[in-house]
Amino acid sequence: MREEWELWDRQCSACERYGPLDDMQLCQECGEKMERDLLRLREWDYTATAFGLPPERWEEARQAVITEYGAAMELLEPSQPKTKKKGRGRPPGQLHRGG
Ligand SMILES: [Zn+2]
Repeated sequence: MREEWELWDRQCSACERYGPLDDMQLCQECGEKMERDLLRLREWDYTATAFGLPPERWEEARQAVITEYGAAMELLEPSQPKTKKKGRGRPPGQLHRGG
């Protein structure tokens, strides 16, 4: 019995690997991706980076992430619409043109 195994007995909620997790239930690697994605989204309230910087430097930190890692999202959805659009809507591929 080794107590340290308790730390490893949880699964990352993003990549499903077992390991030590942060308070978001993410492993270190996914936690870093999450942090970068949050910066890309300007979700300043949720980033540790913004927490440690004055607001006028936030945009700078975001640009640094994009320069180094690219603008593409790594962990989160590219855009999370506030309202669910499923089912109803325009029928796909049908254009009616009166002429
Ligand atoms: Zn992970």
